Amino acid sequence: MPEVAAGLAPYACDPARTRGRRHPEPPAPTRNDHQRDRDRVVHCGAFRRLVYKTQVFLNHEGDLYRTRLTHTLEVAQLARSAARVLRLNEDLVEAIALAHDLGHTPFGHAGQDALADCLRAHGGFEHNLQSLRVVDRLEQRYPDFDGLNLSFETREGILKRCPRRIAEQLEAREPGGVGRRFLDGSQPALEAQLVNLADEISYCAHDIDDGVRSGLIEVAQLEPVPLVGAHLAAVRAEHPRLGARRLLCEAVRRLLSGLVYDLVEHTAAQLRALTPADADAVRRAPPLVGFAAPTRAQVAGLKRFLFGALYRHPQVVATTDAARGVVRELYAAYLAQPALLPAEYAAADELPRAVADYIAGMTDRYALREHRRLTGRTVFAGL
Ligand code: MG
Repeated sequence: MPEVAAGLAPYACDPARTRGRRHPEPPAPTRNDHQRDRDRVVHCGAFRRLVYKTQVFLNHEGDLYRTRLTHTLEVAQLARSAARVLRLNEDLVEAIALAHDLGHTPFGHAGQDALADCLRAHGGFEHNLQSLRVVDRLEQRYPDFDGLNLSFETREGILKRCPRRIAEQLEAREPGGVGRRFLDGSQPALEAQLVNLADEISYCAHDIDDGVRSGLIEVAQLEPVPLVGAHLAAVRAEHPRLGARRLLCEAVRRLLSGLVYDLVEHTAAQLRALTPADADAVRRAPPLVGFAAPTRAQVAGLKRFLFGALYRHPQVVATTDAARGVVRELYAAYLAQPALLPAEYAAADELPRAVADYIAGMTDRYALREHRRLTGRTVFAGL
C-alpha cells in the first residue's frame, strides 16, 4: 500500500497546467481552477435539487435512504480518500464527483429511460450527457456565458459515456474537446477514471444497506453473494453476539474499505509499471485505475445480485413503472401545450429537447406535483 505523500504525482492533473475554460476568465486570487470548479458546482441550482432526487428508493419512501445528494457526497468522499493516497488532484476529483449526477432525472433510472423513449426520434436522452449539458448550458447564473464554464478536466470527467454520433457533434463544436476520446479511443485523466469507480463502489455498498433497510433484501440472501457473504461471515466470527443492524453496518464498512484498498493498491501497481510521464501520457495509455482481476469479478457478481434482487424486485419495478408513466405523461402534456412550460422553455427552438431539459431538472416531488396539476391524478400517496 503506498504511503500518503504530499504533492501531486507527475501523472496527476496539475491545476497550473489546465487546458482551461471555454470562455477565458482571469484566475481567482485564492483558488486554483479545479477548486473554483468545485465551488461553482456546489453553488449551482442543479446541485441543490439532488437532495430531492431518487437514487433507488423514491424520495418519500423513507428519510434514511440515499438520495442523489447523499450518494454524490459518498462518491466524493471515496474518490478523495483514494486520490490523496495516489497523489492525484483531490480538488479535481471532488469537482467531478459533486457534478457527476447533476443530469439525473427525477425517479432515477426510471426517469431517464422514460425520457430516452420520448426523445428517441429527437436525439435521445442520457444522464451523463445531460450532466454535461447542465454545466455547459442549462445553469444560467453568470453574466457573460451560459453554464458554469468549468475547466476542461472537470468536464472531461463528467462525460463518462458518449455515443459516437454525439461525440461527432461535440467534436464539431469543440475540436479536440471532451468528445474526442470517444472517437479516438483514448482515456480520460486518472481523476476521471477514479470517480467513475468510486461511483460503482458507492452504489454497490449503499444499495445493499438501503436494500436491507427497506426489507426488500433479507440478510440471508446476501450469504452467497461475492464479497458481502465473506464479510458477513468474518464479522460474525469476530462478534458472535452482534445485532443484525450493526452486523450489516460492519460488513458494509469492510466491503467499502476493502474495495477502496484494492483499487488503490492495484492502481498504484499499474502506475509503477507504466510510469506515465504526465496526465497526457495517461490519456494515451489503457485504463489505469481499476480493481485487481479477482475483485473485478466479485464486484461484477455483486452487481448481478443487486440487479436481480433489488432493481428487479417487484416492488421497485411497480414504483419505477409508475414513475416512468409520470415522466411520459408530463412530456406529452408539455409537448401538446407548450404554454404550460416556463416562458424560456416554451420559446426554445427545439421543443422536445427543451421539454426534456425542463423535466430532467425536476425533483421527484416537483414532478409529482406538476403531474397532479396537469392530469388531476395522484400517483404516489404521501407527496
Ligand atoms: Mg452516481
